[in-house]
Amino acid sequence: MVASCTPMMAQYKEIKSSHPNEILFFRLGDFYEMFFDDAEVASRELEITLTSRDGGQNSRVPMCGIPYHAAENYIAKLINKGFKVAICEQVEDPKQTKGIVRREVVKVITPGTVLSETLLPDKHNNYLVVLYEHNKIISIAATDISTGECLWAQFQGTHRIQAVCDQLYLLTPIELVIGGEIENIDDIYAFVDNRLSKCTITPFSDFNTEIISSLLNQHFSSNVLPEELSSRTAVGILLYYLHQTIKTDLSHVNTLGYINSADSLVLDASTLRNLEITRNMRDGSKKDTLLSVLDYTNTAMGGRLLRKWLEYPLLQHTKIIKRQEAIAEMLEKPSTRQALQNLLSYVYDFERILTRIEVGTANARDLIALKNSLAIIPALQDMLCQFDARLTSEIKSLISPHQNIVSLIDSSINETPPISLRDGGLIKPEYHSELDELRSIAKDSKQWIQDLEAAERERTGIKSLKIGYNKVFGYYIEITHTHSTLVPNSYIRKQTLANAERYIIPELKDFETKVLGAQEKIVSLEYQLFTDIRNIIKSNIREIQSTGRGIAHLDIIISLAEAASRHNYCKPNIVTNGQISIKDGKHPVVERLLKRELFVPNDTSLNHTDSEIMIITGPNMAGKSTYMRQVAILVLMAQTGSFIPAREASISPVDRIFTRVGASDDLSSGQSTFMVEMNEVAQILKHATDRSLIILDEIGRGTSTFDGMSIARAVLEYIKDRVKAKTLFATHYHELTVLADHYKGVQNFSVAVKERGKEVVFLRRIISGGADKSYGIHVAQLAGLPKKLIERATEILDELEQTHSVQPTPNDDIKNPNNASSLSLFGSSLTDELLAIDVMSTTPLEAINILFRLQTQAKREVGQG
Ligand code: ATP
Repeated sequence: MVASCTPMMAQYKEIKSSHPNEILFFRLGDFYEMFFDDAEVASRELEITLTSRDGGQNSRVPMCGIPYHAAENYIAKLINKGFKVAICEQVEDPKQTKGIVRREVVKVITPGTVLSETLLPDKHNNYLVVLYEHNKIISIAATDISTGECLWAQFQGTHRIQAVCDQLYLLTPIELVIGGEIENIDDIYAFVDNRLSKCTITPFSDFNTEIISSLLNQHFSSNVLPEELSSRTAVGILLYYLHQTIKTDLSHVNTLGYINSADSLVLDASTLRNLEITRNMRDGSKKDTLLSVLDYTNTAMGGRLLRKWLEYPLLQHTKIIKRQEAIAEMLEKPSTRQALQNLLSYVYDFERILTRIEVGTANARDLIALKNSLAIIPALQDMLCQFDARLTSEIKSLISPHQNIVSLIDSSINETPPISLRDGGLIKPEYHSELDELRSIAKDSKQWIQDLEAAERERTGIKSLKIGYNKVFGYYIEITHTHSTLVPNSYIRKQTLANAERYIIPELKDFETKVLGAQEKIVSLEYQLFTDIRNIIKSNIREIQSTGRGIAHLDIIISLAEAASRHNYCKPNIVTNGQISIKDGKHPVVERLLKRELFVPNDTSLNHTDSEIMIITGPNMAGKSTYMRQVAILVLMAQTGSFIPAREASISPVDRIFTRVGASDDLSSGQSTFMVEMNEVAQILKHATDRSLIILDEIGRGTSTFDGMSIARAVLEYIKDRVKAKTLFATHYHELTVLADHYKGVQNFSVAVKERGKEVVFLRRIISGGADKSYGIHVAQLAGLPKKLIERATEILDELEQTHSVQPTPNDDIKNPNNASSLSLFGSSLTDELLAIDVMSTTPLEAINILFRLQTQAKREVGQG
């Protein structure tokens, strides 16, 4: 085949054969061209015209192309759609080459190896993850190449696939490289398909073990490398893949961290998802998540780190308290906090700029952005003098002003340079004397041309004579045909146009050589000077990276203080006695989402003595799920060091939070909803400890009532007897409330409602004691089921209640048989009034007046007034 092609096509095919899985951008002059299938895919995806080209022997091959200077946007489009692109450049100067110019693939761009600003998510890491299995140990190696961060973890045992999926959910890789064979890989594929839909999977077994071990030693010191072969290989494959694609030095990949789940509160994939910590369940975005409520960061670096703080909360109470102290101090100084926020808003994502400097792709605008970011540091340091919390002091020691770098960039780089490094305009005047000289030659040339033009007009007497320039012929003197008789003999004819002749004279030719030489020299000298400056900065990267880390941490402290101040949060007491006690806790997200109603705060008390398990019954729609999630989220927030929406709280850190909430939709895994539910419960019971917090929302519903109820009760008994984890258990099986009579430590709670005639009012109050009704029919009615259907359902319910001799409780004001008296306060008008009070803007005197009025009214209602 190759023999019958044109030489260029033969070269193309040879290069393409090494890149079958990428779209090959083949450089031809000022264009990148694509051929064959690549052309068809690219023309469709990029909406560009598909043409064809001579392929030799009278054949035509499909082709499409894009101008090289516009490539970035086109590449971005393809990468965002999950494609990979191989960039093939001309690696010889075509002017100096006889025959076909040599071409090579200089880099491969994949979703996980992008470095360009346009392609990277702002406040989000862009992880590339490698999976590798050896001896039944699955290892993960991950990097965000745009920041140089590198991590590894390993998982073994029968549940390793599940643990890998949980870790993948935390990392949310954009690209997953599967190194060789992995047992039960289909389960991982199904998980990625279901939960990480933006992730591209790349099978990759073509690695060289010798190169891998030399890369490991080249990048990392031996004391940080994993001892176990599986993990070492995973990290090695990661480096190998990076070198194969990015094809540059990558010396910024020099620190390797171990993801140690024993160091942080472990959140599995379903818990992270159910609690909507950093991604919502609807579309996986940040909207309406805990992150969205807490994120007041001003830098992309801080934004990325805040995500990590929420996804890896702390375990050790001393570390949590250290964060709290720093936030508390920041909270006390609102005006300084605001001034610091203002300064931080000038800070660019210089973590990523440093990576571009390292790999040699940073342009002059990046350097200006770095300078502007570092320029705020002296003022920042001044302000930080007011703070002495331990964490803030550590942050201060990480940050330095890098005065030498700021001065270097300030004296050398133009404030508004072009994007391209090859067209000049980068370097300031007076930075380099040779450059200044060349520039004055180029600048004076205009005047020189004008002088020559005037002199020649005078000498020849041709008033319309003019001197011009074009790329092909250089400088010329143009004279219209009408004056051709006046042209001196010394003029040398160069070109004939329709109505004019173009000439040159020796003087003009000499000038041209000098000026054009100067222009070329300016551009190449500017480029040279620029790369020298970039290299000086490169040699300071580690120190500047440390400043970046300091700024990211400072940004989070400020952000959490800002959230605490705006939303009126309290600092939870971090204790170690195993208790969780929350007064007037609120769900941080639902609280902000409610528009017409006020969020009703609720208390929580969990411990290992008299309140280890809370069984929560109550009507549909009453607020059970919200309450349980709220407890889990408040504990998680407390463990990140954040303040929480509550009046006061004491919280003992938990080692894991488990949630089993709602029906799962893992149908792609080929399991029924009930099977998925039971699997999740099995996982929880296996991994939970007496330091864990478990949230179980209506388990056992996907099967027959008696089966479901039996399972639910047995699960509760198992947790009580063996696991001993603090547990919140919502159920519509009211029969389970009897457990409280048998077990010390099991408490019944319900959500208060009030019946007003046929109407049911949700009071959103968690109160002691079990509920007796679910009001499911009422909720069905609210949802708009046909009237006839609702009437029939009510009839059936009446019949059932009679046949099962269930004694409905009389229509108390509040449907809670055990606690009716404590709730009489919630009479209709009283409730409405209470809910309408804007507590935060009420003065103490007004509060006393309101209280007096409400008490008088309450007394009237119970017949005492
Ligand atoms: P179901 O049993 O049908 O699943 P549920 O008892 O779990 O219902 P939730 O889903 O928690 O009920 O709450 C229903 C709605 O009630 C929420 O979407 C929220 O708008 C509102 N709500 C919940 N708790 C509160 C509260 N404490 N204050 C105000 N509104 C609340």
